[in-house]
Amino acid sequence: MQVYADNAATTQMSRTAIDAMLPYMETFYGNPSSLHSVGQRAKEGLQTARETVAAVLGCQPNEIYFTSGGSEADNQAIVSAALNGARKGKKHIISTAFEHHAVLHTLKKLEQQGFAVTLLDVHHNGIVTPDEVAAAIREDTCLVTIMYANNEIGSIQPIAQIGALCKEKGVLFHTDAVQAAGHLAIHVKEQNIDMLSLSAHKFHGPKGVGVLYARRGIPLTNLIEGGAQEQGKRAGTENISGIVAMAAALKEACDHLEENAAKTAALRDKLIQGLLTIPHCALNGDPEKRLPGNVNFCFEGIEGESLLLLLDDKGICASSGSACTSGSLDPSHVLLAIGRPHEIAHGSLRLSLCEWNTEEEVDYLLQEIPKVVSRLRDMSPVWKDLVSGKKQFLL
Ligand SMILES: *Cc1c(COP(=O)(O)O)cnc(C)c1O
Repeated sequence: MQVYADNAATTQMSRTAIDAMLPYMETFYGNPSSLHSVGQRAKEGLQTARETVAAVLGCQPNEIYFTSGGSEADNQAIVSAALNGARKGKKHIISTAFEHHAVLHTLKKLEQQGFAVTLLDVHHNGIVTPDEVAAAIREDTCLVTIMYANNEIGSIQPIAQIGALCKEKGVLFHTDAVQAAGHLAIHVKEQNIDMLSLSAHKFHGPKGVGVLYARRGIPLTNLIEGGAQEQGKRAGTENISGIVAMAAALKEACDHLEENAAKTAALRDKLIQGLLTIPHCALNGDPEKRLPGNVNFCFEGIEGESLLLLLDDKGICASSGSACTSGSLDPSHVLLAIGRPHEIAHGSLRLSLCEWNTEEEVDYLLQEIPKVVSRLRDMSPVWKDLVSGKKQFLL
C-alpha cells in the first residue's frame, strides 16, 4: 500500500486544475502582453483568474499580484512593508519564532540592514496571543507578520483579532497563509489583513505559482525588475497556465472547504487517537486549533530520519520537520520554539492528510507506525538508557 501523507510539503494536482491548465499550454499559449488574438485570449484568462482569486479572498482584482509562489510573496510583502516603514523612520518588525524560513530569513536579512525584529513566544501549544502582539507594538513598529497556520504543527493563529488590533494601532499586518488557503476560511477585509501570501501547490494546484494580496494604497517594492506586468510590481511574462490552474484549484477548494475539512479532520483525529497509544510520545501543537490535515508527534528515544526511511519502505510518505530542513541534522526550529528539548525534537514525525486520504489508509498507518517505532527503539542505545533508568524519560 502507498500512503501519501505529506500534503503540507506539497499536494497532488487536482483533475480540475490540470484541465484548467491544458488549454493555456495547447491553445491559448500567447503572451498576455501581445496585441494579437492568441495573446488577448491569454490575457482574458489571466484577468478571469485574478477576479476568481479576488472573489475567494474577499478583495478587489487589482489587489492581487501573481508571484512564483509562497516564498516570493512572503519576501515581497515583508521587504515592501519594511522599506515603507523606514521612509517614516519606523524600523521595528514583529513576528514569531516559528514562521516559515521564507519569513524568518527575510527578517534576518533586514536585521542585518538595521531593522529591529521582535520574535514573539508561541507557547507550548504553538499559538501567539493577541495581547502579546499588542504589548510588543512600539511607536516605530512598521509591520506585524504572523502566519495563519503553522506548516509543521498545524496550529492556527487568532488572525482576525491580530488584524483588528493592528488596524487600531495603525500597523501593517501581513500573514503567511500558505497552509491556510484552501483549507481554512479567509476574508481579507473582514479579518483586517493588509497583506497575505498563498501558494498553489498546497491546495492541489501547480508548483511555482502563488499570490501576494496587498491592500490598495500599500506601495510594493519590486523584487524583480523588467516589464510592466502585475501593475508594474512583478516583472516577467506571466505563468499563465499555472495562474489559471491555481485559480481553478483555489475556487474548487473553497467551494468544498467545509466538507473537505470535516472529512480530513475526522481522519486526523482517528490517527491522533491511535498514535497516542504508543508509549512515551506526545502530540505537538494545539489539539483543537489545528489544521484539518495536520498530525505531528514526538517519539522519545528515536531519530525522525530513521523513522522516515523505514516508513518509506512500507510505502508511507511522511516528513519530520519541514521539507526544507529535512536533510539537515538541525532539529526543527518550530519544535524548539514550542519548547521541545533537542533530543525530543529529533524524534518527530509529521503526517499531513488531505480529503483524498481514506480510512483504510489511516488504518494502515496505525498498523505500521507503532511497529516501526518499537523496532527503532529496540535498536536505540538512548532507549536502552531510558528503560534501564540511566536516563530520565522526558515524555
Ligand atoms: C510551502 C510554504 C511556503 C513556501 O511556499 P512555496 O510556494 O513553496 O515557495 C511558505 N510558507 C509556508 C507556511 C509554507 O507551508
